[in-house]
Amino acid sequence: VKPDKSSLLSVADALAIVLRQAKPLAAEKMLLGSAARNLVLAETIVSDIDSPPYTKALMDGYAVQTLAGAAGSQATPVQTLAYAAGSQATLRVIEEIAAGKMPSRHVGPGEAARIMTGAPVPDGADAVVPIEKTEAASAGEVRLLVTPKPGQNILQRGTEMKAGEMILQPGIALGPQEFGILASVGRTGAMVHPRLRVGILSTGDEIVEPSQFPGPGQIRNSNSPMLAAQVERAGGTSEIIGIARDTVASLRTMIGTGFADHDVLILSGGVSAGKFDLVPGVLRELGVVAHFHKIALKPGKPLFFGTRGDKLVFGLPGNPVSSFVCFELFIRPALMKLMGHSDCGPRQTRMPLAADFQTDNDRPTYWPARIEWSEDGSRVRALPWFGSADLRALHTANALLVLPPGAQSFLAGATVGVILLSE
Ligand code: AMP
Ligand code: MG
Repeated sequence: VKPDKSSLLSVADALAIVLRQAKPLAAEKMLLGSAARNLVLAETIVSDIDSPPYTKALMDGYAVQTLAGAAGSQATPVQTLAYAAGSQATLRVIEEIAAGKMPSRHVGPGEAARIMTGAPVPDGADAVVPIEKTEAASAGEVRLLVTPKPGQNILQRGTEMKAGEMILQPGIALGPQEFGILASVGRTGAMVHPRLRVGILSTGDEIVEPSQFPGPGQIRNSNSPMLAAQVERAGGTSEIIGIARDTVASLRTMIGTGFADHDVLILSGGVSAGKFDLVPGVLRELGVVAHFHKIALKPGKPLFFGTRGDKLVFGLPGNPVSSFVCFELFIRPALMKLMGHSDCGPRQTRMPLAADFQTDNDRPTYWPARIEWSEDGSRVRALPWFGSADLRALHTANALLVLPPGAQSFLAGATVGVILLSE
């Protein structure tokens, strides 16, 4: 085992450098339609109403005054006592309240109002007895089969939120719940960070389009479609720019195109130490400031990161698994930060292994793995993997094991570090 060269930048330090350079895109006002889905809020949202706006019934049934409720009212001891017969109480039905209607009468001891789910609870009542827990008595009367408890099946005005209360903060992504909450406080538009535009450029003399059958020495371009899907999954929009050849002229032209309409440029290939790995040199020549090149990581050691103004440039190693892993560890968090997320990931946790696992790595290693979610304890299984060119191993991966350098031998059940991949 070759010891890790301590001069190489750690994954954590590299991520910190990337995130320091990634500044959220300027927010803009947007209508809250489907185009805003998964965009990130850039303002504080304040409720314009109490919710619920009135104390409301949560069940169909009868609004009644409980003994405790009566104690606080002007009920006479006799009435209270009659009512306290509880599960056998027979009450006079004084009104029917449908959702959308305001009650017109106070409910006192010995009385009940027929009420529908969502309707305002009348004054005097402090519980709703579900219809199933009652039976019809003589005309205009209902018999309770249970003793109601104060507060049962009602939601007090303003329990969920009060007018003027801050309910959403900047930095949260707009998902289904947020669309519902925004609508409930009357918002049809909001300040959000715009969707990122990401250009993807593959490089290599041997790379051919996926539609072609590769000739001798040729490799299909699997990185561009994969990276485009990773960008979209992270909430950005992607444009595949094409394949640059391993010449300064080709790289210069296509990188120039790539910078034009994109906030982030992702290149794959041409960043290693080979004679035709020209990407870092051309990027520098085009005014890119290099922040790092090479990190203590397997797969993905030759990763390049630079900036030109506010634009970020990543040079990924061409091997597909290296490209994939570097995207998840560095580019995805950067895209999240640019899009305004307060929580940029990657999401890391610890989990027990599903099976014994031995490994020996010269660098910190991120090993394709599958979390087997289970209600009685989820476990993570290391997948068979033949290294950075073995993209097929990633097919069933939903996680990466975080392994320190050196020889490791784990027994099933041992706890290991895990990075969660989005699915
Ligand atoms: P490089 O980083 O250019 O040295 O490439 C490393 C390995 O990844 C080589 O075997 C390349 O053929 C392969 N490779 C580079 N770019 C791509 C791509 N876009 N799709 C699939 N494999 C690639
Ligand atoms: Mg190459």
